Amino acid sequence: MNVVVVGAGISGSVCAWRLAKSGHKVTLVEKGRGVGGRMSTRRMEGARIDHGAQFFTVRDPRMKELLSLWKNENAVEPWYDQIAGRPDIPGGQRYRGTEGMTSPAKVLAKEFSVETNLFVDRVERRDERWLISERYGDRRKLMADHLVITIPSIQLLELFDRSNYSLDDNTMKSIRSICHTRCIAVLGIMDRSSVLTEPGTITHPVPEIDWISDNQIKGISREPACTIHASDEYSQKFWDAPDHERVPFLLSIAEKHLEVKITSWASHRWGFAKPIVTFGATHWHSFEKGITLAGDGFGGERIENAALSGWEAADSILNS
Ligand SMILES: Cc1cc2nc3c(=O)[nH]c(=O)nc-3n(C[C@H](O)[C@H](O)[C@H](O)COP(=O)(O)OP(=O)(O)OC[C@H]3O[C@@H](n4cnc5c(N)ncnc54)[C@H](O)[C@@H]3O)c2cc1C
Repeated sequence: MNVVVVGAGISGSVCAWRLAKSGHKVTLVEKGRGVGGRMSTRRMEGARIDHGAQFFTVRDPRMKELLSLWKNENAVEPWYDQIAGRPDIPGGQRYRGTEGMTSPAKVLAKEFSVETNLFVDRVERRDERWLISERYGDRRKLMADHLVITIPSIQLLELFDRSNYSLDDNTMKSIRSICHTRCIAVLGIMDRSSVLTEPGTITHPVPEIDWISDNQIKGISREPACTIHASDEYSQKFWDAPDHERVPFLLSIAEKHLEVKITSWASHRWGFAKPIVTFGATHWHSFEKGITLAGDGFGGERIENAALSGWEAADSILNS
């Protein structure tokens, strides 16, 4: 079967990988420049910085299977289990990508074709097949026997609207109920190494900040560089504010805790960080309609659940 998967985050990548391993012809399409989605790594002034998800957990046996694939390819490493002096944070091994959080998705993408910089504008059901059309650029068009969509729910609803497409009322209602937090992230270049010890993270130093990490201690950057994630509340409050109103406070807290000067920075707004209301099932699938939906809005918070959503979506297609 010819399958197009929309969205190259971990759920789309795992789904595409499983389908391709089972002999289907799979194309993964992504509006961004590369694979990984919110598992995103950026280069800045010679530093390598994880600016979305910071680590992943491995609890489910299927995730262990992925882990061993990634380990064989030297794409992931254990990062930390417990933070010294923070018994309130549950233990459990956290993993990171060897060259940042995009590394695991890059390994999966070796098994199928990927079309990047392709913003899917419309999906149309024609004669039991799908026509997938690009919005900009070359206006590429792809045909598929089956369509998998793994993009965040708001973007999924917008895509359905543009396509004049809809599912039954109950399903649409559940999709509309999916809700994500927001996160303003700041990536900073530091004038020197920070004073943090391994694993190089601070969580919730103040109510306005969820996370600060040092990418050099994390082991992904030669140059000293940090990631700051504002809390959902702070991010909502300053979402539309200009950088000069929302960033200096975040920098000042990071500089104080890391004991560095941040010499340059970039900020990024994550409109869909972590799901707080989910669909109620790990994915949605209809063989008759030729469409399957997955992603963390279905599977639940964390990379592991997003990956398993993609995995189970693939299983439903394979078992149809
Ligand atoms: C700041 C932040 C910190 C986080 N920290 C952690 C953490 O430490 N640990 C953890 O487990 N989880 C963390 N998460 C959550 C985790 O990143 C997500 O749950 C997971 O990566 C979601 O994967 P996904 O495949 O469902 O979606 P995504 O990764 O969002 O993938 C969807 C993809 O679809 C693409 N897309 C959207 N619309 C279109 C279109 N029209 N055409 C083509 N492509 C399109 C997007 O560009 C994107 O690449 C964090 C998230 C954020 C934002």
